[in-house]
Amino acid sequence: MKITIIGTGYVGLVTGACLAELGNDVFCLDVDQKKIDLLNNGGIPIHEPGLEEIVARNRAAGRIQFSTDVAASVAHGEVQFIAVGTPPDEDGSADLQYVLAAARNIGKHMTGFKVIVDKSTVPVGTADRVKAALQEEITARGAAATFSVVSNPEFLKEGAAVEDFMRPDRIVIGHDSTAEGEKAAARMKKLYAPFNRNHERTFWMDVRSAEFTKYAANAMLATRISFMNELANLADQVGADIEAVRHGIGSDPRIGHSFLYAGAGYGGSCFPKDVQALERTARQYAQDLLILRAVEAVNDKQKLVLGQKVVQRFGADLRGKHFAVWGLAFKPNTDDMREAPSRVLLRQLLDAGATVAVHDPVAMTEAKRVLALDLTADELARVRFADSPMNTLDGAEALVIVTEWKAFRSPDFDRIKTALKQAVIFDGRNLFEPAAMAEAGFEYHGIGRSILT
Ligand code: NAD
Repeated sequence: MKITIIGTGYVGLVTGACLAELGNDVFCLDVDQKKIDLLNNGGIPIHEPGLEEIVARNRAAGRIQFSTDVAASVAHGEVQFIAVGTPPDEDGSADLQYVLAAARNIGKHMTGFKVIVDKSTVPVGTADRVKAALQEEITARGAAATFSVVSNPEFLKEGAAVEDFMRPDRIVIGHDSTAEGEKAAARMKKLYAPFNRNHERTFWMDVRSAEFTKYAANAMLATRISFMNELANLADQVGADIEAVRHGIGSDPRIGHSFLYAGAGYGGSCFPKDVQALERTARQYAQDLLILRAVEAVNDKQKLVLGQKVVQRFGADLRGKHFAVWGLAFKPNTDDMREAPSRVLLRQLLDAGATVAVHDPVAMTEAKRVLALDLTADELARVRFADSPMNTLDGAEALVIVTEWKAFRSPDFDRIKTALKQAVIFDGRNLFEPAAMAEAGFEYHGIGRSILT
């Protein structure tokens, strides 16, 4: 099938590459000329396991192309996926300017019948706005083009995006019941048929329910994290171990083990903005989503917890003190720094006057870019970017772990102890066991693990 993907970011590039891998003829459009040039020169703008190989293979086979040519992109695809960003607006609601610009571009050039797919995460009712934008452009040209707007939200996780796309636990498709809507549904069914060979994974529904499903999923996941973080802070007070509690409740099949990890707060491009956007949608309907407001407030507080533990231990004035920080990306296996808890921790340490040495296995380039925007020149001068985890440690009062990269899970503790000025670890992801750390001679601060023995 001839497919156009508008927006070549985490979602668009993965969607395009995976659909090409299945034999489709894919045209990827982006407004970012640098990104397109990089892709055309064999580069990959993001870190995502397995993606580079798939893009290279399909580029060589002529099944995927990258361009900034809007007219060519509209002419190419019988299905046009909109996968552009939907960042938070000033008031926290989703900023739809990129989605609507993409829709207008399609309307300006399209002929015949096309299926327009909202893959971006968009508030309930957006398909109607996309429809209106398209229709306006088509009418302005006096063209005879027809279309149907389908909602097909994406559930992939950064860091496992290719695997998630190729083996989805569900595909959600919302379409309307007009003749065009049914025609669009038939086309989507054909496109996704390879994913449904073992068993049917597609949930067909109306457009608004599909749009809502994406927000409901992310809001639920964020709620579980904030719930555990709040309990972890209480566990610290009462002398209980949140990890023991996690096992104790997760074994109940009604609760399950996933997404019950206490830590340094959730970040990334999705949970923070999607929780906010759902709250804002509710407000437009004069409804107050109390749980989600708490989820957001708890998370904002949680991002401060690691830094507060450092200050509690070493004092509010950290001038002349140096700290090692492991992990900058908002989670492992990605270079994404959007809303990363590490940014809040660095702000706290630098505000208190400390110097830091930081390392992340893949996010160093992105971290340098983002921190140059976050920090003043003076602050940036107090950050050393180290080329390995061990090279952060010399002369540091303590090691602070922010991201749960696999490479941090079994480090050489003897080397860590020798290099650090004091054998102190703040573990924002509960990677280690407090008893084992005590035995190894470390003063260990986890999240929700101040067990009274
Ligand atoms: P991104 O910022 O990585 O990529 C968006 C791309 O769209 C950019 O390359 C940008 O240059 C391009 N773009 C903007 N306007 C354009 C236009 N008019 N025409 C062509 N290209 C344009 O964003 P992302 O992380 O891929 O997210 C895209 C959407 O998918 C968002 O709505 C997000 O909430 C949703 N989503 C993201 C994830 C994730 O893990 N990142 C998962 C599920 C859903």
